[in-house]
Amino acid sequence: MSSENIITVGELEFPPRKVWLKTYGCQMNYHDTERILSHLSGLNFTRTEDQQEADLVIFNTCAVRDLANQKFYSHLGETKKLKTNPEIDPETGLKKNVIVAAGGCIAQTEGKELVKKYKQLDFAFGTDVVDNIGEMVYRAYAGEKKFSVTSWDRSDNYSIETKITQGTPQAFVNIIKGCDKFCSYCIVPFTRGREKSRRQEEIVKDVRRLVEYSGIQEVMLLGQNVNSFGKDNGESLAGLITELDQINGLELIRYTTSHPYDVTDELVDVHRTAKKLANHLHLPVQSGSNTVLQRMLREYTIEHYLGLLEKMRKANPNMIISSDIIAGFPNETEEEHQDTLKLLDLAQFDFIYSYNYSARKGTKASRMDDVLTDDIRGRRLREIQAKQLGIQENIRQGMIGKTYRVLVEEKGLNKGVTKWTGRTSCSRLVHFEPENPESSYQWHWVDVEITSATALSTQGRLVKDYGRKL
Ligand code: SAM
Ligand code: SF4
Repeated sequence: MSSENIITVGELEFPPRKVWLKTYGCQMNYHDTERILSHLSGLNFTRTEDQQEADLVIFNTCAVRDLANQKFYSHLGETKKLKTNPEIDPETGLKKNVIVAAGGCIAQTEGKELVKKYKQLDFAFGTDVVDNIGEMVYRAYAGEKKFSVTSWDRSDNYSIETKITQGTPQAFVNIIKGCDKFCSYCIVPFTRGREKSRRQEEIVKDVRRLVEYSGIQEVMLLGQNVNSFGKDNGESLAGLITELDQINGLELIRYTTSHPYDVTDELVDVHRTAKKLANHLHLPVQSGSNTVLQRMLREYTIEHYLGLLEKMRKANPNMIISSDIIAGFPNETEEEHQDTLKLLDLAQFDFIYSYNYSARKGTKASRMDDVLTDDIRGRRLREIQAKQLGIQENIRQGMIGKTYRVLVEEKGLNKGVTKWTGRTSCSRLVHFEPENPESSYQWHWVDVEITSATALSTQGRLVKDYGRKL
C-alpha cells in the first residue's frame, strides 16, 4: 500500500479501513451516527454496508423499549464469529483483527457489564462521549482492551458543530441534549442526561455554514424536548426559528420532539409567521386519558392538549399533526383505553407511532404493580392502530386533487414500475411516476398532484419539476 494513503496520528498509522455501523432508535441516534462517521473519516475509515469486509463494527444502540435491546443483544451475539473465525484481509493476507464497539443509550447504562459479558466487544461508549470516538478507536488500535467510557460532559455550555457525511440537502441539527422531564415510563433522562442547550448564535452560524458551503436546504432541529431549548440562557425555540427563517437558501425548517407542556404561545405564533417552517408538528400525547397522563407524569391534560392543536391549526390552517401513543400503561383500565380511542377521533392525527408499554429498569413506572397482561396490551395496541388507520385513510383521501411541493428523495420499484418518492412540507410521503423513466429527480423540488391515496401512501402525477436548487 502506498504511504500516501496512510494517515499517521500520534504513534499509530491508519491505513484505509472500513467501518460498519448499525443505528437503532430515534433521530438523535442517527444524528450521533453522522458525527461518529465524520470523526472516523479523520482516521481513514469509510463506511461499508457489508459487515464481512469491516475492520471496525459499531452498534449505536437504543434503550427506549425492550425490543430494541433484544435486537441489539442478538446482533452483538452474531459478531462473535468475526473474532473466532475472522476473514482474511485481502490487502495483507493475514487474518483480520476486527474491533467491535457499542455506543448509545444501552452502552450508557450498561457499558461496563457489556464489555465484561461479551468477549468479542472491545469497548463501549455512552451518549455524551460520541465526539471522542476518534480517541477511543485510537486506544483500541493501540492495543488497549475492554474499556468502557460513559462519563458525562460536566461543562456548563454545550457547543458543537454539525457534521454531515451523506451528501444530501437535509441535515439534522442538534439544538439541545438531554431531558429533565422524567416521564414515569421513560429511560431517556437516564441515558441522555440533563438538558443542555446550544447557544442560538452558534446554531444560526452553523446552519448558515451548512447552507452556504454544504448545499443544505432543509434542517431538522433535534432534541428530546426542543421546547426547552434556551431556557437557561433566556433564549427560545420560537426565537431560534425566527432567526433561521431569515437565512437565504434555506428552504425548510423542521423540529422534533415537542413536549405539549412546553409549547408556548410564542411558538404557536411562529407557525403563523415563519415562512420556512414545515406545516407539520409532531406532538406526542402518549394517552387520551387524564388519569393515565397523571401516572405518566406528563404535566398536561387532554383538554390542554386539544387546545394546543386548535391554536396550532388556527395559526396555520395547513398544519398537520402527528403523535406518539403508548398502549397498556401499567394498570390502564378499559375505560382509560377507550379514552385514547376517543382522542384519536378528536385529534385527527395525520399519523402516529404507537407502542406497547415496555417496562424500563430504573423508571418509576417499572416499580408500579401492574395487572395488565401482554395479551391485553397487544389487543389494545391493535385497536389503536386499526382506529388510526381508518382516520388516516379519510384524511389522505382529502388530499386527492390537491397539489403539493415535494423534495424528492429516492426512487424505487413498485410492482415493476419505477416511482420516485419525496416528502411534502407536512412530512407526507408521496410517490409519483417519472415522465421519462431515465430522468433522475433526486433532490429536485417538484409539484405533485395527488391522484390516489390509502392510509399509508399517496400517489401522484408530476405537475412541475423545479430541478435541484443549487
Ligand atoms: N421526547 C419525546 C417525547 O416527549 O415524547 C420522545 C422520546 S422517546 C425516545 C419516543 C417515544 O417512545 C415516546 O414518545 C414514547 O411514546 C415511546 N416510549 C418511551 N418510553 C417508552 C416505554 N417505556 N414503553 C413504550 N414506549 C415508550
Ligand atoms: Fe422521555 Fe418524557 Fe423526556 Fe420525552 S419528555 S424523552 S418521553 S422523559
